[in-house]
Amino acid sequence: MKQHDAMYIDGSWRPAAGPDTIEVVNPADERVIATVPAGTAQDVDTVVRAARAALPGWARTAPAERAARLTALRDQLAGRAQEIAETITAELGAPLAFSKAVQAAVPVMVAGSYAELAATYAFEEKIGTSTVLHEPAGVVGAITPWNYPLHQIVAKVAPALAAGCTVVLKPAENTPLVAQLFAECVDAAGVPAGVFNLVTGRGPVAGQALAEHPDVDLVSFTGSTAVGKKVGALAGAAVKRCALELGGKSANVVLPSADLGKAVGVNIANVMANSGQTCSAWTRLLVPADRYDEALELAAAAIAKYVPGDPLDGTSRLGPVVSATQRDRVRGYIERGIEEGARVVAGGPEAPEGRERGYYVRPTLFADVTPGMTIAQEEIFGPVVAVLPYADEDEAVRIANGTVYGLAGAVWAGDEDEAVAFARRLDTGQVDINGGRFNPLAPFGGYKQSGIGRELGPHGLSEYLQTKSLQL
Ligand code: NAD
Repeated sequence: MKQHDAMYIDGSWRPAAGPDTIEVVNPADERVIATVPAGTAQDVDTVVRAARAALPGWARTAPAERAARLTALRDQLAGRAQEIAETITAELGAPLAFSKAVQAAVPVMVAGSYAELAATYAFEEKIGTSTVLHEPAGVVGAITPWNYPLHQIVAKVAPALAAGCTVVLKPAENTPLVAQLFAECVDAAGVPAGVFNLVTGRGPVAGQALAEHPDVDLVSFTGSTAVGKKVGALAGAAVKRCALELGGKSANVVLPSADLGKAVGVNIANVMANSGQTCSAWTRLLVPADRYDEALELAAAAIAKYVPGDPLDGTSRLGPVVSATQRDRVRGYIERGIEEGARVVAGGPEAPEGRERGYYVRPTLFADVTPGMTIAQEEIFGPVVAVLPYADEDEAVRIANGTVYGLAGAVWAGDEDEAVAFARRLDTGQVDINGGRFNPLAPFGGYKQSGIGRELGPHGLSEYLQTKSLQL
């Protein structure tokens, strides 16, 4: 596996200040595949200075020039898609087909969308007698998680560069190799030195140093709600802008008029993808009480098709989870569900047969789940689905909205208008109607404790801009 024992700072690969390193482990076989530098506060300071120094020049470039660099970046990502997919499979454990189709392909789309937006966005507007300039927010500190490691990087870096900001990226400890590949792509795309910088390191050290650095103007964080609260508090104390993309516990509400078989099948596929490590996953399946048993049968049949296996084996649809910590956390939640009285229809907390090595979890389906149970309230981040019955639409709304989260969700009905009317009652940032497809231009982000701010498309770009009104 290709790796750098250095960090990408000011246009070149430079060693870290200290000797500390982070081991990258392949979750499928528990082998160490690489080590990367563990940056310290001193490294973060060096990197932020580089980003600050590059800011005035990049902020002044014409949008067309920024668009050209982003087009070149998209082409780099597209040209290296195979290598990117293999790298993500090695450090995350996602099945290779999924890494290619989603993990490597979506960032190409998103980078392309920002190349276009950089060229077409109205960075100046007239409001009455004023001219309003949309100027870059400044130096961005981007902190990303491991579950869609390249997508989450591109969803921050591409709009930041389009806006004219400079960036310091601190990727997750588990998946730094694809971040290094991304830095190579940025370099090859001809982005000037200092505009994009990469510091690898641990969250509480390098991540925290970045969030609290006085020369960072905007912190964009994707990760757990627990860490997001800390990052938000640091940003608030320093009056710096902050975007938080956090956890979720999304509900899929199947209304009585819907095609139950289709809705349940898509729900299981939605949660099994990426081993359940998707912040927007529909981990709560809500079905009409009088069709509960039928829904369980359908769900059990669908989940049986997901047999944990080697992510490099072309027939595997479910790989391991990312780390031993995540495996133990997911198994702990399964045990908690059993303790609280939920019924295991499929799966369970034990290691899957023949998969004692590697961080595998059995795909698990829970019945007899009540809305207050831990497994119906907390984000598990594993291949675990809870099925809940509802008596009528009002109860379905109450259950769906009854968590601290509000990131995503889905509604299925025989008629689109009926599904849309129901979706209007949901306190959540995104709702898929009858299996509506992912749209890389639609704003993504959370209500309630799922976050602050939006990513993707023009809404994602505006997060990195600030307005200056000229009264004429
Ligand atoms: P995490 O919060 O532990 O880590 C996320 C990032 O924050 C990592 O880069 C980590 O190094 C860094 N970090 C950790 N402690 C820090 C600190 N004290 N200060 C600054 N940075 C720190 O989350 P994770 O386990 O990497 O990711 C899983 C979580 O991310 C899940 O809860 C998931 O729902 C959430 N997530 C949300 C979205 C979204 O868009 N809403 C997308 C993906 C993942």
